[in-house]
Amino acid sequence: MDSPKLRGAIIGCGFFAQFQIEAWRRMPEVELAAACDLDPGRARAAAPRPYTSAEELLRHERVDFVDIATRPDSHLELVSLAVSHGIPVICQKPMAPRWEDCRRMVEAAESAGVPLMIHENWRWQPWYRELARLIAGGAVGTPVAYTFRTRRQDGLGEAPYSHQPYFRQMPRLLIYETLVHQIDTARFLFGEIASVFARARRVNPVIAGEDQALLLLAHENGLPGVIDGHRFLNPDPDGPAMGEAWIEGDAGALTLRATGDIWQQGRRLWENTVTEGYRGDSVRATQQHFVDRLRAGTSFESEGREYLKTVAAVEASYRSIAENRVVAPLELLSCADSAVG
Ligand code: NAD
Repeated sequence: MDSPKLRGAIIGCGFFAQFQIEAWRRMPEVELAAACDLDPGRARAAAPRPYTSAEELLRHERVDFVDIATRPDSHLELVSLAVSHGIPVICQKPMAPRWEDCRRMVEAAESAGVPLMIHENWRWQPWYRELARLIAGGAVGTPVAYTFRTRRQDGLGEAPYSHQPYFRQMPRLLIYETLVHQIDTARFLFGEIASVFARARRVNPVIAGEDQALLLLAHENGLPGVIDGHRFLNPDPDGPAMGEAWIEGDAGALTLRATGDIWQQGRRLWENTVTEGYRGDSVRATQQHFVDRLRAGTSFESEGREYLKTVAAVEASYRSIAENRVVAPLELLSCADSAVG
């Protein structure tokens, strides 16, 4: 190995952190040296130097980065703490429950001069990287429309979302937690979002938030797209992509199946052969991007301020639903003191 391993610490060792820990362990350039969770057993299982307080961890450990994998309500506090120690951060999506707190998080990192990346793994699924390559290579000509359809059958019955039961109490659910991924992937593939018109409803009465949503997006280049999501059925056939995508252009169309395979005119153009890790090993790819850019000293695709554009489109969707109108994410991005939700 040319350069020494990066020493990392993880804060929050719950359900999703297990995918992150497993991916860090497969990365030879990283040593997960310390872990923190309010539950000491979870911290002990994650890394050799366990803590139950993030402050204690940061006071006692010399680490090159911190991975924050708690739920969003603690992200602002933990990111602010880490950057106040000058430690670069990778923090899970969603950034924070309130727009104002997302902005504060970015400002805390920027004023400390410390790198902050949001762990947004969807765009790192290998089929989306391949779709980007195919579109750039002219496989559809000029894109004229797209649809992302997101499905998973875990939202039904008296006890939905068994892996993440706290979903049931969240006042904002499907767009905030899930469709944020497709919104970010749409930005990755098609550029910035100029406007959103959204509809949403709650189907399962035992939950607090919305579990079905339809978003009609327009990109700055004029391209329209649809993001259509609910959690009452599995895709058919099912697979790691958690839904399908259709991308049409003036010279052809591409279809992404839930299996991760890409089809064109009845022919499989690209076959998904990735079986390791989470959804096309996207967690590892996200973490690899963080490490590569951290070492190179260059910016991340989902660097904090850049990712605010994704969050602004989420906020625009909720504002559209509440006010029954088309909303431009720029309304939020250009308004310094806007607080939504
Ligand atoms: P979880 O409740 O299972 O885990 C959170 C853990 O953080 C718990 O073990 C808790 O004890 C610990 N914790 C809370 N506050 C803490 C603090 N101040 N210091 C130390 N530890 C603390 O939650 P989860 O389902 O794993 O979700 C975590 C995050 O992962 C959420 O932001 C969620 O949206 C995200 N997530 C992302 C994806 C994805 O594909 N990117 C998928 C699922 C979940």
